[in-house]
Amino acid sequence: MGMFRSLFRKQEPSSKGTNGRVDLPHKGTEVQNRSQYDVYEARNRKSALEALRLVEVKEPLSYVIVETPEGNLGRDLVSIFDEASGATVELVKRTPLPRKRVSPTHCANCGYFVLPAKSDQPWLRVAAPSPLDIQTNIPVDHMSFFSTEDMTVKGLGFYCPSCATAWCSSCATLRGSDAICGICSGIMSIHTGSSS
Ligand SMILES: [Zn+2]
Ligand SMILES: [Zn+2]
Repeated sequence: MGMFRSLFRKQEPSSKGTNGRVDLPHKGTEVQNRSQYDVYEARNRKSALEALRLVEVKEPLSYVIVETPEGNLGRDLVSIFDEASGATVELVKRTPLPRKRVSPTHCANCGYFVLPAKSDQPWLRVAAPSPLDIQTNIPVDHMSFFSTEDMTVKGLGFYCPSCATAWCSSCATLRGSDAICGICSGIMSIHTGSSS
């Protein structure tokens, strides 16, 4: 067995968009419709969950999947999810970078890609427990309230026009109804991707 193992060594997992190692047997990497799936296997759901908590997926269209006899779990930019139903198992914690990095597309604090918001998203009109006025970029008839919880679930965030920096909604600092840039203290707008 040892000989075969060395002769037919599997391709190393791709590190595109992921941070940290999954300490489980790697089954392979699949690419489908521009999405990339790094597939591992685990004895059970509990080990899958533990492993998925330790790997960070910072890019969109990048997924880590762990197959188990009790069903498959996956991790993407925002959550750990049940692969069959797509249901969220838990939201993921974002580890701050050792030092802030200015970027128009990725959060300065954690390095996660900030998904651009679309102005026609219905959630923009929903009043929520911690309302925040929408600053700019959004058509007036859609101006209402949104909650940073909603934004976090959807992978959205803010953009500082003064220093061209993106912030994810979990890392952004809120002051009253404003989201404040942690680089230049400027007032940020919703990140729509149009200014970056
Ligand atoms: Zn962040
Ligand atoms: Zn700024």
